[in-house]
Order: sequence, then C-alpha cells, then structure tokens
Amino acid sequence: MSSNKLFDSATVRLTGWYLLILVVLSLFFSVIVYTLASHEFERAAGPRRVDMVIIDEIGDFNERRQQRIEISNRYLITNLVMFNIFTITAGGIASYLLARRTLRPIRDAMESQAQFSSDAAHELRTPLAVMRSEIEVELRDKQSSKASRGKILLSTLDEVNRLQTLTERLLMLANKSRREISPIWVEASAIDAVNQSIAAAQAKHIVIDHTVGREKAMADQAGLTDVLSILLDNAIKYSPPKSNITVSSRHKDSHIDIDVQDNGIGISSEHIPKIFDRFYRADTSRTKANVEGHGLGLSIAKRIAEAMGGELRVRSTLGEGGTFTVRLPRAKK
Ligand code: ADP
Repeated sequence: MSSNKLFDSATVRLTGWYLLILVVLSLFFSVIVYTLASHEFERAAGPRRVDMVIIDEIGDFNERRQQRIEISNRYLITNLVMFNIFTITAGGIASYLLARRTLRPIRDAMESQAQFSSDAAHELRTPLAVMRSEIEVELRDKQSSKASRGKILLSTLDEVNRLQTLTERLLMLANKSRREISPIWVEASAIDAVNQSIAAAQAKHIVIDHTVGREKAMADQAGLTDVLSILLDNAIKYSPPKSNITVSSRHKDSHIDIDVQDNGIGISSEHIPKIFDRFYRADTSRTKANVEGHGLGLSIAKRIAEAMGGELRVRSTLGEGGTFTVRLPRAKK
C-alpha cells in the first residue's frame, strides 16, 4: 500500500476512535444531565396533592403538574439532542483535523524513509551496472588479452571500492548507537583525522596545517574524529592540487570551535542550505564531473555533531573556498 493510502486509512481509523470517545462521553454526560434535571423538575413542581378533600381538584392539580414536568423534560431532551448533534458534527471535524495532525510526522518519516531507500538503491545501482556491462563485454570477447582482462579487473576494483565507501557511509547513517560523551582532547581527534587523510592530501600535493590547541570538549572521541575526517576528505576533494588546508581551534566560555578551512571551489549561497541533506550534491559541472561522492558525508557529520550536543556550520563563497566549523560544548577543567 502506498504511504498516502496508508496515511488516509489510518487518519479515518483514528478519526473514528476520537469520535467514538467523544460520542460515549457526550451520551454519558447527557444521561447524567437528563437524570439530574428531571429530578429537579419533579422537585420544583412540588409534592403531589393527596390531602385535598375534593377528588376532582386533586386530579386536576396532579395532571397539570405532570404536564409541566413532561413539557420541561421534552424541552430538555430536544436541547440535549441538539447539543449531541452539534458536538458530534463539530467533534467529527475536529477529530479528523486532529488525526491528520497527529499522523503527519509519521507520514513524513515514512516518506523520508522511502526516499532514502530509493536514493540508496539508485547509488548502488550505478556501480553495479558499470561492473556488469564491463564484465559482460569482456566475456563476449573471445580474443580478449591478459592486459585487457587486467584493465577490467582494475576498473571493477575501483567500483568495488566505491561500493565499499558507500555501504560504510550508509551504515554510519543508520547507526543509532549512543555516543559516549565525556571530556576529550580535541587535539587527539584532529591528529587522528589528519593522519587518516594524509595519503589523499599527498596524492594531490595538498598541505594540511594543523594548529588545534590542547583543549577539552564534551564529546565522543571517535565521533569527533569521524566528523573531522569527513570534513578533511571533502576539503581535499574540492580543493585544487598544491593548495593548503588548515585545521584550527578557538575557544569561548562555553564552547570550542574547530575549523576546517580550504581554498577550494567553494559553495554558492543557493547550495549552502542543502548540502547537509542526505544524497545532496551541489549540482555544478565542476563537482559532479570531477569529484566522486554520494552526498552522504556532510549529513553524517552533522548528525554525529548533533548527537554529541554540538553543531556543524559552514561559511563559504563560490570560487574562494570555505570553512566548516564543528562547535562542541567545552569541558569544565
Ligand atoms: P559528497 O562529497 O560525497 O558529494 P557531502 O555530503 O560530503 O557529499 O557533500 C555534499 C556537497 O557539498 C558536495 O557534493 C559538494 O558539492 C559540497 N561540498 C562539501 N564540502 C565542500 C568543500 N569543502 N568545498 C566545496 N564544496 C563542498
């Protein structure tokens, strides 16, 4: 069943339940009001006369008394019926609106889950399709040489590496494990992240300057290393060869900012609000054509930073590079 149909039928069912509760309450109070009010009418009409001598007068009096009570009761019943019709009609509309409101976050989550699965499948399909067609062509070629088979194997290995990175990132995104928040040295994570990125930087003759101070933040050591690795990975990917990247830190009273700054291609202001979305890649020919990626790194980094009680921000100008800042609560000494 599509998420829209599921949402509609769940809304109708929830509306039904809300309405049922309302009807039961409304009828319950109507019965109580009717019972109390009719007792009151009896009391207000005074006692039945039995001490009169003239029988006709007694009959007349009791009949008129009974009529008054019946008129009051009928009037009460009409009002209660009107009240119930109004309550059920207005309550029905309110129940429907309330049910939609209650279920909307669930529908949004379902839609985002479906979108995620379809984006993930799409990302997995491309390298698989490339591998399949290359292998098929090679198998059909009866005169294929050892050299050409080697080329295919290398290309397949490339695609396998890409798939491995993608699956690792998908796993990181799905990882709901709680982060161990404790006072940690930010410098230690920065050093680890720089070490992890050094090979990629050297391949492009990029120099990473690291000036992170000996500061303590409230964070998860591995989490901070992951965030800084992702930021460094991007800084290297989106910077020209022989450029410089700086990792530095600043502290304020309550927090520490760790900056990863590059002089790369930068990000235009229209893309900045979207780059933290899953699978989003700034759609410029420069990034899409030349740089590999799946659009998952920043969404993972942001999620980890927030799980540690921190945040991830960016300042960037197209063509002039940019600075990604991880802000973390400062640990009390
Ligand atoms: P990926 O790098 O795999 O595409 P990310 O989620 O890490 O995915 O980044 C999303 C997008 O943000 C990238 O496609 C790129 O357009 C932009 N971006 C991220 N980091 C930088 C950077 N340091 N310089 C320029 N653009 C960047």
